[in-house]
Amino acid sequence: MSKSSENSNSKKVVIVGGGIAGLSAAYDLSRAGVETILFEKKPRLGGVIETQSWEDCVFDTGPDSFISQKPEALALIKELGLGDEVIGSNDHQRTTYILKKGRLVALPEGVMMIVPSKVMPMVKSPLLSWATKIRMGFELLRRPNGASPDRSVAEFVVDHFGQETLDYLAEPLLSGVYGGDPAKLSIASVLPRFLDMEKKYGSLGRAVMSAPKPPSSGGSLFRSMKSGMTTVVNALSKFAHVRHEQVDAVEPFAAGRYRVRAGGEWMEASDVIIAAPAWSAAALVGKMDAALAAKLGEIDYSSSLTLSLVYRNSEFDGKRAGFGFLVPAKERERVAAATFVGTKFPHRTPDDKIVLRLFLGGAGDEAILSESDESVVRVAREELRRILGVTAAPVHQIISRWPRSMAQYTVGHAGRISEIKERLAKLPGLYLAGNAYEGIGIPDCVRMGRAAAKAIVAS
Ligand SMILES: Cc1cc2nc3c(=O)[nH]c(=O)nc-3n(C[C@H](O)[C@H](O)[C@H](O)COP(=O)(O)OP(=O)(O)OC[C@H]3O[C@@H](n4cnc5c(N)ncnc54)[C@H](O)[C@@H]3O)c2cc1C
Repeated sequence: MSKSSENSNSKKVVIVGGGIAGLSAAYDLSRAGVETILFEKKPRLGGVIETQSWEDCVFDTGPDSFISQKPEALALIKELGLGDEVIGSNDHQRTTYILKKGRLVALPEGVMMIVPSKVMPMVKSPLLSWATKIRMGFELLRRPNGASPDRSVAEFVVDHFGQETLDYLAEPLLSGVYGGDPAKLSIASVLPRFLDMEKKYGSLGRAVMSAPKPPSSGGSLFRSMKSGMTTVVNALSKFAHVRHEQVDAVEPFAAGRYRVRAGGEWMEASDVIIAAPAWSAAALVGKMDAALAAKLGEIDYSSSLTLSLVYRNSEFDGKRAGFGFLVPAKERERVAAATFVGTKFPHRTPDDKIVLRLFLGGAGDEAILSESDESVVRVAREELRRILGVTAAPVHQIISRWPRSMAQYTVGHAGRISEIKERLAKLPGLYLAGNAYEGIGIPDCVRMGRAAAKAIVAS
């Protein structure tokens, strides 16, 4: 055990986890001059953020972008002096397709996750049947009935727009974000603004159509970095004092302080930020507070895999489908989504290459992660042949497996978070941050990491 310094009341912070949440916390603590050590068990920083490259192609094998509507990621990137590195998606080329009965059908313009905000594109689209479109029309007549309880996304969507909207809009769009099962995900935690709309207007269609346009930050909704998302990780890492070791215990210590064990050594800390997945946090806090550990352990995760396939442009013989396509669970074999990387973002792919990034796994098909690379590529190529008609062989491929990486906000998530917060309030100096709690995306994780750091600086 490393004994505390002469000044046992001084602030010394331990951060567990070097993903974007932990790194964002380290950044603010470093700038405030607070002594901080960040433990990351893997040999690299960034967590699920990872960029690779091959022959002028840039591959984000985890998250490929962040949304600009939530300002926290963009604000941090600008503070880091990386504003000029930010790129936007090529929205003029933006069409996303949904696979229906083996054919790719363009997602109608103006769909906000589950709700059509424009009438004509939806009326004209072959994606949904007339019965569903008529049902959408009747939905406009709904009035608030006072009760808008939390329920599953599936129940909520079927209640408003019917099963087909769930199958061909909500499920594929959500599975691209959460890799999750809408029958389990909580509408209150995953799409809270729609629950608010229901409370206020009854009809989601009317709410969306009459709502004032959200303030635009200007430019594309999806942003990324010219040289890939690890640009942000690399810039943040300069502010972190990092040890690549796994933390395996966090315990209370004398005088309201904590001690943390990593690599067989104990280290004292005034404050600890656990910015690791909830299942990892649960294992760490069990001895301190078994009930807190149990609540953390209830947070489910999904596992996924991304496969990037590089083709020579001259050899690519398949359909070029806009930004890419989503495969609804009803039609899915193994591939859940595919992105034409060079169409979606500039600075990713040279003109002579085409990169397809496929998303596999997610709720119900975690088994894909244990299949061999050869098997994953074979399965993916066979599906691409059927969906896009590609017979050309890729000239390069990159597979990244992300086991238990994406927290699932299942029904009851908000209640679990309240209980976790109540228990944390009894453990001053202990903080949790990361995608398990109050937002899955990069901007949310930045916000939670920075909030923990600011609370420590202010305490
Ligand atoms: C494939 C994929 C695609 C995604 N796409 C997008 C996207 O396009 N846009 C978007 O906004 N979000 C996206 N997300 C979600 C978003 O990227 C993540 O939610 C976010 O990056 C998670 O950050 P984090 O810091 O909470 O956790 P993580 O990135 O999981 O980092 C946690 C870190 O803690 C470390 N750790 C765990 N336990 C310990 C321990 N005991 N001791 C030491 N270290 C430990 C882990 O090794 C890991 O590095 C995507 C996620 C995935 C998996």
